[in-house]
Amino acid sequence: MHLFATQVNDIRVWRSPDKTRLVFDVSDEVAHSQFFLENPQRLVLDIRGTRKPATVGTPSLSTTPISKIRYGVRNNKDLRIVLDLKNKVTSKSFLLKPNATYGYRLVVDLFDGQKKAVTPIKQPSQPSSRRDIVVAIDAGHGGEDPGALAYGGGHEKSVTLNIAKDLAALLKKEPGFKPVLVRTGDYYIPLRERTSVARKSGADLFISIHADAFTDRRANGASVFALSRGGATSETARWLAQRENSSDQIGGEGGISLSDKDDVLAGVLLDLSMTSTLSSSLEVGDKVLKNIGTINRLHKKQVEQAAFVVLKSPDIPSILVETGFISNPKEGRKLKTRNHQRALARQIHKGVKSYFVKKPPPGTLLAKLKADGKVNTRPDQYVIQAGDTLSEIASRFGISLSSLKTANKISRSDRIRTGQVLVIPN
Ligand SMILES: [Zn+2]
Repeated sequence: MHLFATQVNDIRVWRSPDKTRLVFDVSDEVAHSQFFLENPQRLVLDIRGTRKPATVGTPSLSTTPISKIRYGVRNNKDLRIVLDLKNKVTSKSFLLKPNATYGYRLVVDLFDGQKKAVTPIKQPSQPSSRRDIVVAIDAGHGGEDPGALAYGGGHEKSVTLNIAKDLAALLKKEPGFKPVLVRTGDYYIPLRERTSVARKSGADLFISIHADAFTDRRANGASVFALSRGGATSETARWLAQRENSSDQIGGEGGISLSDKDDVLAGVLLDLSMTSTLSSSLEVGDKVLKNIGTINRLHKKQVEQAAFVVLKSPDIPSILVETGFISNPKEGRKLKTRNHQRALARQIHKGVKSYFVKKPPPGTLLAKLKADGKVNTRPDQYVIQAGDTLSEIASRFGISLSSLKTANKISRSDRIRTGQVLVIPN
């Protein structure tokens, strides 16, 4: 007979701006209790019928409110974990059921003392004719949820964070734009919270960035998604949506069922304003897709639609960019390079900018700049569509046919083809 039924096999610590998450991998379902002790501050965690082998590592605690983790045995059979605390926190703990990535996990969240509430941006504090266009950038996955595994090692969560930060840096330099990073480090945010960060910051657009995997390693190419209410537009779209939506179970949100809530939301809210939001999502998605198409193969030439949870804001145009298949040997290797990450951010930035230059929301600085003729509304690239002719493209951008040909080194005998990218000279 075994005295100890269960083992703590590993421990991970994730620090986010307002809380610290500890995750204990346990070999089986366990019962636990927790309580605080003062002078000095401690959080005590008792896990019944459990032991800790000597091999459990010691995670770095430098940015956390924990100064030390100590283990002890109670009643000869229970595990007592004592967290020595540097400052006062509140705590919540729960057990997570196994999923595809992990077995049972005991999650302990320590919330920082003075909670910094996300203050909504007060638009009226700026003259109403000059507010910035707010773009919420959501780096997919994070923390306990690594996302897809890259070919040759590495994780989706770090690729998406790099691209998100690059995109934010580009938008920050753009007059009239204000980027908001939904995730700033390696920690998990539940899907619903991601959209609520966007709403609280008054976002005009929500962009979720991913780099996914598919069962077939040959799958490659970037895609852009908008929400679909009914069926997904392709089998891959359906598959990816399922995969991304399972993030909350992997990232650890206490086994909350998202699906029922989604249906309620879908029914009540989506009908009200979804139609116009969705057409904006498709439009901005199309611009982003076309621009990415200038540097990367596309998985599908059109914006696809699927039921991604993060896209379900009824009032904020939202797109999800799959920057490529990280599971593909060639694309995976490329996606892990800073160069390619920066190039992708540049193309997403271009697409976003050209959408807003075309349709600046009323009351924004960009709308004013455009009205004053201070915005260059001419794109610097154009992707040839079926039925286009060179002279028609030239006249559309107000340039001469010869300058268009020279800029693109097109001689008299050259044919143009759909999908070809033209440089539009200034
Ligand atoms: Zn993803």
